Amino acid sequence: MIIAIDGPAGSGKSTTARLVAKRLGYTYLDTGAFYRALTLKVLESSVSLEDGPMVVKLAEASQIELQPQEDKNRVWLDGRDVTQLIREPAVTNSIAPISENPKVRAIMVEKQRALGRNGGIVMEGRDIGTVVFPDADLKIFMQASLDERARRRQEELAAMGIKRELGMLKEEIARRDQKDSTRKVAPLVRAADAVLLDTTQMTIEQQVDFIVGELEKKWQAR
Ligand code: C5P
Repeated sequence: MIIAIDGPAGSGKSTTARLVAKRLGYTYLDTGAFYRALTLKVLESSVSLEDGPMVVKLAEASQIELQPQEDKNRVWLDGRDVTQLIREPAVTNSIAPISENPKVRAIMVEKQRALGRNGGIVMEGRDIGTVVFPDADLKIFMQASLDERARRRQEELAAMGIKRELGMLKEEIARRDQKDSTRKVAPLVRAADAVLLDTTQMTIEQQVDFIVGELEKKWQAR
């Protein structure tokens, strides 16, 4: 089966998706890593983030690979392990012009479909249930309050040794969501058939139980 999980930054997608995959013996795939790796490549080049055609050329010439491991996806960019680097705030805050480029998206979606083709996957991102796998067996749309999402992001960054002020994080997250939700191509929207999961007051374990429970309902209905 294919499980598609979409939602805004900090809604709990990655941790939950990873644990659902682990429980089911499925493969976890983090599609944000593709856009992050390309953003890193552009930042390290002399190409401007705003130069759409050149960014597409870089995307075509890039080898971005996700290597699913038990607890995370190792991310390779042109043979280099960029798993950590792509999480840096400098990358996070530069993604928008890259992820709103339709030609870039077409390249990424093709790679993501190839990875998920055989099923047995939990794929998370912004457009998985709407564009990448519109026929996914189970679609979940995760959300949480902005305060809670900023708090989680602060904790995540602190674990990487990065100290950030909560108010600033809230602003950054709100700005990124706004851009992701209003872009012309593949905006972040809940698919009509996606199950809504608000994680503001939930523990990770409850979130995992919920999704596995929804999947069991699908199995029983087959
Ligand atoms: O999920 P993550 O926060 O790593 O995603 C980083 C950015 O990549 C998002 O803010 C969004 O702009 C972009 N993205 C996307 N489509 C996806 C996954 C991520 O546009 N399927």
